[in-house]
Amino acid sequence: MIPRIGTGVDVHAFAAPESGREMWLAGLLWPEEVGLEGHSDADVVCHAICDALLSAAKLGDLGSNFGTSRPEWAGASGEALLVETIKRVQAAGFQIGNVSVQLIGNRPKVGPRREEATANLERIVGAPVSFSATTTDGLGFTGKNEGLAAIANALLIGS
Ligand SMILES: [Zn+2]
Repeated sequence: MIPRIGTGVDVHAFAAPESGREMWLAGLLWPEEVGLEGHSDADVVCHAICDALLSAAKLGDLGSNFGTSRPEWAGASGEALLVETIKRVQAAGFQIGNVSVQLIGNRPKVGPRREEATANLERIVGAPVSFSATTTDGLGFTGKNEGLAAIANALLIGS
């Protein structure tokens, strides 16, 4: 079987500091940070990876798999969505070759926790994961600290 790639993008706005929202990224709690808005934990890293995996497998996207028409997934954590996504991808006959994901925004500073986050994603995904971060030079919603974005690519191979 020819390997298949998929791309996923996710965006969430920062919540108001007084909201008390927790920040979850890459399946980890970032306790020093203001959280992101969303019905779920708004883990843009996990969500982007889910979309990339679903895209590569031609299984739709986060919305069609876990959206408002699937209330049993309302409020599910990014990690829970990723675990279920991987189950569905594997059930469709694929295994994961690797995943690359990039967080876009000014904060949190990923460097000090990059290895921890990478290890956590690899634990969940069960394949090599590259986790990087970048800023947008002050431009756009990420540059103006209005929210975070993540973009992911996933490679699947037939199992
Ligand atoms: Zn999301």
